[in-house]
Amino acid sequence: MRLFDTLTRELVPLEPVDGKSFRFYCCGPTVYGPAHIGNFRTFVMQDVLRRGLELGGMKTKHVRNITDVDDKTIRDSVAAGRTLENFTAEWRDKFHVDCEALNCLKPQIEPSAAKHVPEQIAMIEDLVEKGHAYASDDGSVYFKISSFAEYGKLSRLETRELDLGHTQNERANSDEYDKDNAADFVLWKSRREEDGENFWESPWGQGRPGWHLECSAMILKYLGETFDLHGGGEDLIFPHHENELAQSKCSCGGEFARHWFHAAHLLVSGKKMSKSSGTLYTLSDLAEEGWSAMEVRYVLIGSNYRKQLNFTMESLHAAREALGKLAKAASGQKVPGYRELCKGGDLGVFAGAFEKLNEDLNTAGALGELFGNLKAASSEADWRGFFTVLASLGLVLPEAEKAEVPAEIEELARLRWEARQSKDWAASDRYRDELATKGWVVKDGREGYEVVPS
Ligand SMILES: [Zn+2]
Repeated sequence: MRLFDTLTRELVPLEPVDGKSFRFYCCGPTVYGPAHIGNFRTFVMQDVLRRGLELGGMKTKHVRNITDVDDKTIRDSVAAGRTLENFTAEWRDKFHVDCEALNCLKPQIEPSAAKHVPEQIAMIEDLVEKGHAYASDDGSVYFKISSFAEYGKLSRLETRELDLGHTQNERANSDEYDKDNAADFVLWKSRREEDGENFWESPWGQGRPGWHLECSAMILKYLGETFDLHGGGEDLIFPHHENELAQSKCSCGGEFARHWFHAAHLLVSGKKMSKSSGTLYTLSDLAEEGWSAMEVRYVLIGSNYRKQLNFTMESLHAAREALGKLAKAASGQKVPGYRELCKGGDLGVFAGAFEKLNEDLNTAGALGELFGNLKAASSEADWRGFFTVLASLGLVLPEAEKAEVPAEIEELARLRWEARQSKDWAASDRYRDELATKGWVVKDGREGYEVVPS
């Protein structure tokens, strides 16, 4: 598979550096509320990437974290009068329910920031020792961006935009900021009153880790100094991934991520999603309006991941229609299991559709090929190909809807069955022909019969 790399801006073949399994890390959700469909576009595209690799015969190791210690989780848990653990567990569980509904494969490892504070402190100590970080008077610790010559390379931040020698402390010490405010960023935040009981002991006094650090510390623990791919939404390129890259390279020395994979934003009805305009949809919001998670998934994979996706109600209608069409075409075909499909084999007329996915995850192209070849599907290989493409897109088809049978047709079918039971073949054939002229056909089984449109 070839995939666009954010750092080099080139299509690069994906190969595991250890020659065994493709090891990748995705920044997970911040669990202070339900994830919205914009978040899920990224998670679903990461799922398509993993499925494509596995169905192409590659083994994977997928790590995705849970952000449960940051400005937002602390602020909202304190406001709700709940412990951080109790508060974030609720939203983590909700996230898992949504992921399952969207048919996303579970990561093999899902570490959380709160459970990895010692690892984060160890990395800060290392950075201080190596001269890449310094403590301020109030007991916070900052990363010194002037100590890392490559800072800004990933996000193409010009050096002249950097405000060297200043810290985020002067700008409210926030985890999130834009390129105009690039400066030394916080690794350890000294304890503040608004943090409530959410603090840990450290060599610099009581406090808590900054948001960017958790991924670096957990990546080192679970994937090592060099791993195959790092993914997230494009809003994470700066500052989050830029900061992760700086921390990890300065602390561990390795290459860090060999490939950077970012999914573009999602618009709703042409507008930026926002709570105030009522366009910040969650899966539950859409379920209330009668849309299934699978229909949502279909829309999320329906266009190129590097382009903005405009999510509309029309696109959901189109998704429903498309899934119904695929279900009808595949009706009666046995669906092979995922592991079975991962063994590979001849994909028949759908080999081209799978190829599309292998070229920068061209999901729209794969869907086009899937529909384009539906009529040609006949052999066993064709159907294996069909289900391989569906599995790589993570689509599960709805049960094909049974056509409503008019009473008159039911009666003819019943008469035919009775004639057959009494071995009156002439009468049976007569009823069969009459049904055929009315557009129906009877399928006989051992236990009885079924009448379906011809
Ligand atoms: Zn991260």
